[in-house]
Amino acid sequence: MTNDRFSLVKESFVKKALKVEAPAPKSSEYFAELVFDRRKMQKYLDAKTLAALLQCIDKGVALDRVTADGVAYGMKEWAMEHGVTHITHWFQPLTETTAEKHDSLIDYDGKGGVIESFSGKDLIQQEPDASSFPSGGIRATFEARGYTAWDPTSPVFIEGDTLCIPTVFISYTGEALDCKTPLKKALKAVSDAAVPICRLFDPNVDKVVSYLGWEQEYFLVDEALYAARPDLMITGRTLMGHNSSKNQQLDDHYFGAIPSRVTAFMRDLEIEGHRLGIPLKTRHNEVAPNQFELAPIFGETNLSNDQNQIVMNLMNKIARKHGFVVLFHEKPFDGINGSGKHNNWSLGTDTGTMLLAPGKDPMGNLQFVIFFVNVLAAVQKYNSLLKASIASATNAHRLGANEAPPAIVSAFLGKTMTDVLRKLLVLPSDTPIEIAGKEGRKIGLVEIPEIFIDNTDRNRTSPFAFTGNRFEFRAVGSSANCASAMTTLNAAVALQLSEFKEALDKELAAGKTLQVAAMDTLKPIISDIIDVVCFDGNGYSEEWKQEAIRRGLDVQTSVPEMIKVFTESASVELFTKTGVYTEKELIARNEVKWETYTKKVQIESRVLVRMAINHILPAALEYKSNLLKEVVMAKDTFGSTDSCKTEIALLEKITSLIDEISTKAENMREARKKANTIEDEYLKAVAYHDIAESFPSLRKPLDKLEELVDNRLWPLPKYRELLFIS
Ligand code: ADP
Ligand code: MG
Repeated sequence: MTNDRFSLVKESFVKKALKVEAPAPKSSEYFAELVFDRRKMQKYLDAKTLAALLQCIDKGVALDRVTADGVAYGMKEWAMEHGVTHITHWFQPLTETTAEKHDSLIDYDGKGGVIESFSGKDLIQQEPDASSFPSGGIRATFEARGYTAWDPTSPVFIEGDTLCIPTVFISYTGEALDCKTPLKKALKAVSDAAVPICRLFDPNVDKVVSYLGWEQEYFLVDEALYAARPDLMITGRTLMGHNSSKNQQLDDHYFGAIPSRVTAFMRDLEIEGHRLGIPLKTRHNEVAPNQFELAPIFGETNLSNDQNQIVMNLMNKIARKHGFVVLFHEKPFDGINGSGKHNNWSLGTDTGTMLLAPGKDPMGNLQFVIFFVNVLAAVQKYNSLLKASIASATNAHRLGANEAPPAIVSAFLGKTMTDVLRKLLVLPSDTPIEIAGKEGRKIGLVEIPEIFIDNTDRNRTSPFAFTGNRFEFRAVGSSANCASAMTTLNAAVALQLSEFKEALDKELAAGKTLQVAAMDTLKPIISDIIDVVCFDGNGYSEEWKQEAIRRGLDVQTSVPEMIKVFTESASVELFTKTGVYTEKELIARNEVKWETYTKKVQIESRVLVRMAINHILPAALEYKSNLLKEVVMAKDTFGSTDSCKTEIALLEKITSLIDEISTKAENMREARKKANTIEDEYLKAVAYHDIAESFPSLRKPLDKLEELVDNRLWPLPKYRELLFIS
């Protein structure tokens, strides 16, 4: 055991960066080569099929079977040129991962042999045995039928020997069993609500697109050390481990030079991502040791979210090639920063106007202010729901724990926009709206060009920040599917925009100009939000919590309670009016969420107790026995224990910690037993929340032992080893 730990560490230290084989010198030469995109459609489909498919993708016209057969035929040709032998419907069930069931292309040819076959029916629909996916009671387990149906707006792609078809996943009775279906409904809702407003400014607008640019944070740990930590392997985070003497206090990791073994991994990942048409753009070290970030160029939300799911899968695979394991958990290590997935979000018209960026003239600014203010109003009205949309057992470690994000959803505007809103409140409604653009600033060094300063500053403590042309929803967890947050945000904005448009229409009907009608409708909204949801101060401070309570914002930190918000009447109204979820779906999803929460804490608690008893106590007892032998030997040799003061003091400390651990581990086991008898999913989750709250109290004596017990006897890789090897 002793030698194992050190040989593992040594072996990990000598791992060298793999040489990455690039398929071509320039990304542009292989970008999207594994995606059936418009270029491939043009090459592999006949003109009629192509035209019908584009109508379906761009205008939402339903696909007929003949077209589907034509598309499948072309896709098969293309796929087989890339060595594809299997197809799968690729979907996102409520398990927080993606699912796929592969079918080979072969079919009997009727002459005793087989042929490769792939029909429109195989493309459009499959019926996976769905009884084992979470449904929250929508389907009784004996009703195994669930259907996957092709989503033509997200392109088919090749992974290895398999053609992957992005699909939605629904039950026999039509309820969504996945993340994609409600997201697509919310995206439609926001477009439907925004278009009539945009048409007041530009009659050519037919569609409003929601954009998402995610920033994926993650940790890398050495594969060998990971395998020696049952907690990391099973729960994705360390359940014990004393702080390393040095962690992030010197701020030397953020944007630091990327270690070569990590760069090799990133390079490999970028190449594979680019081949799959994912525009990976930014990579850098994050704040904590061994923490990194990856971001693509933003894209349409449904596609960008699919790409995030694909990238997470790719990262898992490619990291292993480089002797790493990726940790997506929001808080893998205590005492250093956790990981999030900032969701940069904006809206734009199909005529090319970005609706959350100031315009080119006062009318453009008016349109921007309408969208800007209504987004803030939606965030204020649904602040607790937005928080619920990012709540999970794993993200709970970040929420309210003095690091991004705080457990209060407020919005950061920056000085420019705060000033604009305050001015609009007092100016007459017919005043043309001026917004300061980017400002040129001379640096004062001849060789450095003038730089342009954005009209927003930065506030890292805000969960929802305006950053010049978009909002950044920073509370999303690193392991989450962005769909939950994006569905809620887009639905909330959709309903708010519809209500605004209704009020605006009344003002217009009274004969006011668009400018005056819009400002008269906006002013009461601005005065409602400016001192409630808008907050530019320190989101982590205790004073803010008190102030937020006063302002009526939600400050709940318990995840099982947050989840409850989804079925409150205001939420049900929001989601049914926008057509995103039925009440039945909301109730079912909450059951799944509570159940998932319970199971995650239950698994962690089992691992924690077992490691305490099977790993840590035996090491502590061995050390205790060594110390006792010393003391006995001293007594035998010198007739007294005077020379063993240190040993005796250590013995006392260790013995008391061992006893404390035994008692607390037993108590936790008992608490679990009791919680397991609860039938109701919500109440069970509440009981497990109490268990989760007791983790630190069991962890503390374990971590103290790590400081005391002989390093050679310690059975687990320590933080300093996990975090500083690359
Ligand atoms: P940060 O400085 O916040 O860490 P990054 O460069 O890491 O910024 O990531 C910013 C993300 O925001 C990128 O994915 C980028 O493509 C995306 N983004 C930029 N503009 C928009 C926009 N208008 N809408 C949505 N996402 C955007
Ligand atoms: Mg970033």
